[in-house]
This record gives sequence, structure tokens and C-alpha cells, in this order.
Amino acid sequence: MSQKIKCIRCGEEFILEDGEKKFYDDKGFPYPKRCHDCRIVRKRYREKYEKDS
Ligand SMILES: [Zn+2]
Repeated sequence: MSQKIKCIRCGEEFILEDGEKKFYDDKGFPYPKRCHDCRIVRKRYREKYEKDS
């Protein structure tokens, strides 16, 4: 079953799909705490600043 998670950044609820959940379970990774949009923002931010340093 897909799972609803509340984004820690914007507070929006997002759905973690079955396939995604399985991916995290298989890898032993914790489930994401941020919605898709916030993950993209964070990724862009990191790419921008890590390249500059
Ligand atoms: Zn969010």
C-alpha cells in the first residue's frame, strides 16, 4: 500500500508509491521526509553550492 508522508519542509502531504516504498525497503534507506518538489529544490541547491566550493 502506498503511504502518506508529511513533508518536513513545506508541510504538504505526499504519497510514497508502492514501487518507491519497495525501493527504499530493498535498499534499507529511510523513507523520504520531503515531497518531490522540495527534494528537487534541495538537490539543485546542493549542486549549485557544492560545485562552487
Ligand atoms: Zn515539500
